[in-house]
Amino acid sequence: MAIVSSNIDQSDSLSSKGKKRVVDGAPLADEKRSFREDGLRPKCLDDYIGQSALKEVLGIAIQAALGRGDALDHVLLYGPPGLGKTTMAMVVAKELGVKCRITSAPALERPRDIVGLLVNLQPKELLFVDEIHRLPRIAEELLYPAMEDLRLDLTVGKGSSSRVRALELPPFTLVGATTRAGALSSPLRDRFGLIHRLDFYNLRELQSIVRRASELLRLPLNDDASIEIARRCRGTPRVANRLLRRVRDFATVQGQKDVIDASLVEEALSLHCVDRRGLDATDRRLLELLMNSYGGGPVGLETLAAALGEDASTLESVVEPFLLQIGFLKRTPRGRVLTQVGKSHLQEQQKI
Ligand code: ADP
Repeated sequence: MAIVSSNIDQSDSLSSKGKKRVVDGAPLADEKRSFREDGLRPKCLDDYIGQSALKEVLGIAIQAALGRGDALDHVLLYGPPGLGKTTMAMVVAKELGVKCRITSAPALERPRDIVGLLVNLQPKELLFVDEIHRLPRIAEELLYPAMEDLRLDLTVGKGSSSRVRALELPPFTLVGATTRAGALSSPLRDRFGLIHRLDFYNLRELQSIVRRASELLRLPLNDDASIEIARRCRGTPRVANRLLRRVRDFATVQGQKDVIDASLVEEALSLHCVDRRGLDATDRRLLELLMNSYGGGPVGLETLAAALGEDASTLESVVEPFLLQIGFLKRTPRGRVLTQVGKSHLQEQQKI
């Protein structure tokens, strides 16, 4: 793997109060800096747990490309952060036996950034562009002929003496990843041959991910402990691995030598205020406000944001999606409503 450049917006990882959230699907600053996640990433398709439809589609495309001796078609992967888009790009490169060059769209500010990457690609290599919806216009325009005709149109000279020189590129595969497929321009989207959405993982898959990571970290867990972490990680492998590391910290400090059980997981994660459904303090503050101050709603987003002292757009894009997904919150034309399941969960938590 070659990390070419990384300039990822860190605000994604912050809670609405500016604090890091242990349940955030986006990588935290230290995870980005140290590439700490690399040790836990599955290396080949067989190790990649879940996303069976995606694996099947890519498995066939990889075999076909290898059979033809050709580069794989361009791939667009979309879905929430932490579900395995970067990992899948690296797995695909490994299966193809080529290098994966990794960059992030905001890092491609100047034309020479994307040009430098493209001209240095070896035949059939993968170029992974994270957050591709944030690609600067100029980089996007350079990519169109590169993706379609393996041609780079470079402007040489200035003013009236400038002319366009076409440079031939080797066959390559662009793998784009985004959390916001709808924000991609249609000419760019149309240039991907394979477009696939990654889904949240089910409990069984998450438990396998936790088990695999615990073996790699040499942290023995019993089945109850691994399912307890799986329940709290919001369907997201990155969060599962992060919670596992917090459990490991706790076990180390406690001098725990035995196999870790569910009660130790419970103790470790309640220190981080992560409850049995993966809700943290920020989620609960929102739900409790709805229940206790507004009789369950409906309440307008702006009113909620003002009452919580939060920014409305952060509330909408960072806090609400998971609560909507698990059915604790509903968006109605008259505002946000706490559902019966959401209310029951809060009441259960209050009893604990
Ligand atoms: P994304 O690019 O979608 O934000 P990543 O590919 O960086 O997510 O994945 C985050 C972490 O989750 C990785 O370090 C990896 O260890 C783990 N992970 C992701 N998908 C899987 C999977 N299918 N099986 C096992 N671990 C996974």
